[in-house]
Formats: sequence, C-alpha cells, structure tokens
Amino acid sequence: MIEKEKYMITIAGNPNVGKTTLFNALTGSNQKVGNWSGVTVERKEGTAKIKDINLKVVDLPGIYGLNAYSQDEIIARNFLIENDPDLVVVIVDGTNLERNLYLVLELIELKKRVLVALNMIDELEENGISIDTKGLSREMGIDIVPISASKKIGIENLKSVIYDDLKAKKTIDIDYKYFKSPLKETIDEIEIILSGLPGSEKYPLKWLAAKIIEREDDILNQLLENYSSKDEILEKINTSIHNLEKKLNEESTVIIADSRYGYLHGIVKEFTKYHYTLNRRDLTDKLDAVFTNRWLGIPIFFVILLLTFQLTFFVGDIFVGLLEGFVNYLSNFITIGLSGKVSEVVLSFLTNGVIGGVGTVITFLPNIFMLFLIIAILESSGYMSRGAFVMDRIMHKMGLHGKSFIPMFMGFGCTVPAIMATRTLNSRKDRFITVLITPFMSCSARLPIYILFASVFFPGHQGLIIVSMYIIGIVVAILMGKLFKSTLFKEETAPLVMELPPYRLPSIKYIFKDAFDNSWHFLKRAGTIIFIGVIIIWCLAFLPAGVEYGSEMSVAGHIGKFIAPVFSPLGFGNWQSSVALLFGASAKEIVVGTLGTLFANGSMNEGLKSIFDPLSAFSFIVFTLLYVPCFGSLITIKKEIGLKWSLFTAFYTTAIAYIVSMIIYQIGSLIL
Ligand code: GDP
Ligand code: MG
Repeated sequence: MIEKEKYMITIAGNPNVGKTTLFNALTGSNQKVGNWSGVTVERKEGTAKIKDINLKVVDLPGIYGLNAYSQDEIIARNFLIENDPDLVVVIVDGTNLERNLYLVLELIELKKRVLVALNMIDELEENGISIDTKGLSREMGIDIVPISASKKIGIENLKSVIYDDLKAKKTIDIDYKYFKSPLKETIDEIEIILSGLPGSEKYPLKWLAAKIIEREDDILNQLLENYSSKDEILEKINTSIHNLEKKLNEESTVIIADSRYGYLHGIVKEFTKYHYTLNRRDLTDKLDAVFTNRWLGIPIFFVILLLTFQLTFFVGDIFVGLLEGFVNYLSNFITIGLSGKVSEVVLSFLTNGVIGGVGTVITFLPNIFMLFLIIAILESSGYMSRGAFVMDRIMHKMGLHGKSFIPMFMGFGCTVPAIMATRTLNSRKDRFITVLITPFMSCSARLPIYILFASVFFPGHQGLIIVSMYIIGIVVAILMGKLFKSTLFKEETAPLVMELPPYRLPSIKYIFKDAFDNSWHFLKRAGTIIFIGVIIIWCLAFLPAGVEYGSEMSVAGHIGKFIAPVFSPLGFGNWQSSVALLFGASAKEIVVGTLGTLFANGSMNEGLKSIFDPLSAFSFIVFTLLYVPCFGSLITIKKEIGLKWSLFTAFYTTAIAYIVSMIIYQIGSLIL
C-alpha cells in the first residue's frame, strides 16, 4: 500500500501546537497508530488524497529544535534526516511565534522543504494580533499558510499549497545571514574541516558546523568513528570554538541560539501588528514607564485609590438619594397602609426591623456597585497588577512576598475569595501570613459604615475619610505581616517574578457583568444573613413588651449597657454602638443595619450625632475596619489553614482594633 503513494509528508512542530489536530483534519479516519521502532513513543501515520496525488502523512513527536535533548527530539531528527520527506509541514503556534519559528529555522538550515502552517489564527484574531504571513513568507523564503486546525479554518487552502509545493519540488536556499561575524567565520572554518570527511555529504555542512558549535557532538562522532586523523580534527574544531567563545566571552551554545533568536525576534516584530489605537506593546511599555516608575508608581497608586473612593461616593450618591427616597416611601406606604389593620408589633417589625435594617444596608448598593465597577475596570485594564507590582517593593521591604498583595487587593472586594486566593502562594509561611493579615484589607461590607459616618460627621471630606480607612487597613496589615514574619514564621522569602499583562481597554460588557454579579452577591447577603441579624436585633430592641422601641430599657439596651464601658476608652461607650459591634461581628453590614434598626424611630443622622462626635466616630469606624472579620471569613480561614488560626485571627484582630482605636481616640482627645 505504501509503495503506491507518491509523496510522503510529515507534520512537525513544538509540543501542543495542534499537530495531531491537523493530522486528523488531513487524514480523517485513514490512520495507523504504532510505535517508533524500539521505543514506546507513539507513531501516527495516515493517508490523504489531494487532487490527483496520494500522500502518506506522518505525525512527528513535538520538538523545539533539532538537538538531541530528548528521545522525542532524537526520533524526530533521525526521521527527518533518514527519510527525507517530500515536505515538512511545520505547524507553529501563531501566538508564540518567536519560539515556534526556531524549529522552522533549523529545518531550513537542514535544507528541508518546509511549509509553515501558522495555527491558532482564531486566537490571534481574538487578541487583536495580525501577522503579515506574506511578508514573513518572503523574508524566510518558505510558504506560510494561516490556519486554525481546531476550527477547521484554512485547511483547504493549506491542502492546495501542499499540493503546489509538492509539484514544484522547490529547492531550499538559505543564506544564514543571521550568523554574523565572528560566528560566521568560525562556521566557515569548521565547514572546511568537515568538508573532506566521508559521509559528511549527507548533511548541509553549515548546519552541521552550527550543530557542532552547539556542542551537539553525536553526528560528528558518527562521522569520525573509523577515521584515522580523528583526534587532529577534533583538536582543530575545539580550537575554533574556543577562539569564538573567547572573542564573544560567551558559551558557544548560547552564541548560536542568540543568533537565531535575535533574527527571529526582529522579523516577528516586523511582521506582527497589534490592532489597538497604539501598538499595544509600545503602549504598555510607555504606560509602565509611568505607572511602575520607581518614584511615581506609589503616589499614582494612592491617587488612583483616592479617586476610586471619591468616585464611588459621588457617583454612587446620586443613586443613593433615589434609593433612600424609595425606602422612605416604602416605609411610609406601609405605615399608612397598614396601621390599624395589623398589630403594632407587625408594623414595628416591618418598618423598624426590615426596612430600617435591611433597607438601610440596601441604600448603599449604588456605592457598592460603583466600587465593584471601578475594581473591575482596574483589574481588566491591567492596572491592578501594576498596583501589586509597585506595592511589591514595599512588601519586600516589609519581608513579605509581592504575590501576597494580589489576594490582599482582592480583599477590598470580599475577604472570603481573597483568603482562598492565597492558595497561589508557594511557601507555607507566605500563605499563612497573608491569610492572617488579609482581613485588615477593607472589604466592601465595611464601606456602608464609612459612608454613613463620613457623610454625617465629615461632610465634604468623605473620599478622604474613606481612603484613609483603606490606608489604615493596609498599613496595619503590613505591620502585622512584618511582626508575624519575625515571630511566628522564620523561613526565607522566595524571590518573585511578577507577570505584567499588557494594558487593555476593558470590555464594557465584562466589567458591568462583574459589577452586577458582585452587587448581587451583596444583595443576597443583605437578604439573608443581614435580614436574620436585624430580626434578632429588632426583637432585642422591641422586648420586653411595652418598653419604648430601641430604648435603653429594651433587652438590646441592657446588653449594650453591659458591654459599653469596655469601649469608653475608645470614645464610644454608648450602648447602641456596643450592640452594633456585637452583632456586626457576624457580618459587618449589620453594624449599619443595627444602627438603622435602633434609630428607626427618628432620624438616623440625629441619632448618630447624639452618641458620637467626629473623633469618636472616626475611632468607631477604625474599630469596625479592624475588629473580628465576618463569620464567613472565619469559616474560610478555618477551612484553609485550620481552626486554631481562625480563632487566633478573631482574637488578635479585635485586640489590634482595640489598641489602634484607643490610640486614635486618646491622642485625638489631647490634640483636639
Ligand atoms: P499537538 O501536541 O501538537 O499534537 O497538539 P494537539 O493537536 O493535541 O492540540 C493541542 C491543543 O491545541 C488542543 O487542545 C487543540 O484543541 C488546540 N488547538 C489546536 N489547533 C487550534 C487552533 O487552531 N485554535 C485553538 N484555539 N486551539 C487549537
Ligand atoms: Mg500530538
């Protein structure tokens, strides 16, 4: 059967570039699977028919070059040299062109008839990259056909080019122009030495010379096996290579690889276009020169943080007004509509409990949505990793791993996924420390508390107050990290290479979807955990029957009064904040929910002003920032690193919160 086939082609390429996919597309079901002789590497062969010719198609193992590094490379290389296929179809991954063309270049040097199938054009298109295959083809002197093997794009065209190439029986010409002086001279020298050797005519001598310079000696050893003046020849070759290495002060292997990669780098750059307003790599470099600048990077990072929260506040606030109006309307509607029709208890429950508690939390939805929207923009535009990158330097000074910053950054959204994200950290020490300090990163559930207090006590400076919370959180986290590192865990930090993806214009669809998903999550929490929380608080504020709702005489009042003295040194020794903090320990939104429930009888603003002044309000929000993370976070910490650490986190964060708030209040009282 094989005798009848006129042509034999092979499919070569790096691992995982789509060789088998293309092989299947070409041969359909006409396949034979066996092993390469003597080894257990799979060998796939098939037949195909293009117009009037029959083809035998061989799928080679994946290789990066023609060195004898691995069994796969040896098999592929021997096959290519011994069997001399009529055409080598090299499939290259268009998204990783430079690396993939290395093999192509080596095959051309070996004077194989090469046809390049440039695969993954679907992905290139998706990424806004186009490759000028015509230009590249002219430059390299071979045909290059764009395809997508898996999406079956360009396969017919490829077949017809295969057909033409086979019929044309072109010979390959190569000028080795990328082997520059002094390498060029060394190759020439070795070529002359080789030229007299019997058996050497089987190889293009320049390719063989380059292989020898790469210290790939197996072919040379074969040639010299029974040769009389073997030692003399080896001596001459060695001297040549040594001279070259001395001249360039570099290992010969590297010299060859650099020459080829240098050339490929140049042509790939020349024939690749990034379809964005600007060449994306250039743009990325230019932006990075600013955003990751040694001096500007960190100030810019904090300005962006500040803008984020200013924007969160101002834009969100427009809608908050509307939502507040709606909640008030609902409350009035229910009060008027239902009074007299249902009992006082039910009415109080609906208006004070449900609307006062859950409603108050929900009014912050626009702010939360804006925050998530901006985080999504920062993330998908590529800035987020720059933020992590500039913080990396600070983190390293603090003895922490730069990678830790990514989960910590995520903590701005929600602590739970942030703690799970620490799994990407390799060292146990880094992971534990990051888990322990991530709760200090101010999550979105805390935002309503800041917004509420900032707008009541610091009108006009809300953004500043809010951003200061985030900064206090970061600073405390870093200081605690440093402390833990020098006390609890004392191994070394591994160095880190941070990947900086190119900047992208974020997709509107994506960022809105992200923000909606996260806001929905927030709403669900408001509807469940917080709902249950406010029901309990409503009961405590309503009971015992007959007392004025939410007064000191209620059960809540008694509990609050019992705890309150503990918080006196912090400036908020009133019973209402004690109740809010107690219940807020399960979920921080409940702090606002509780206050909303307790003050549901009158105006929230007036209520707050009656128990806080600006200093104690600030001390209070710092306390809520730092004290025990929500129940969900504690459960996640337990799952990730164990119950002991989860309990430890609950206690130490509360202790830190107490200390920091006390310092703020006591020092503040002295100054103000
Ligand atoms: P091989 O290791 O070179 O034989 O590669 P395979 O044929 O096994 O393909 C490797 C992976 O790349 C598989 O998951 C394929 O589905 C995928 N793949 C192959 N061709 C394309 C393509 O044109 N576009 C995309 N997006 N994926 C492809
Ligand atoms: Mg394969």
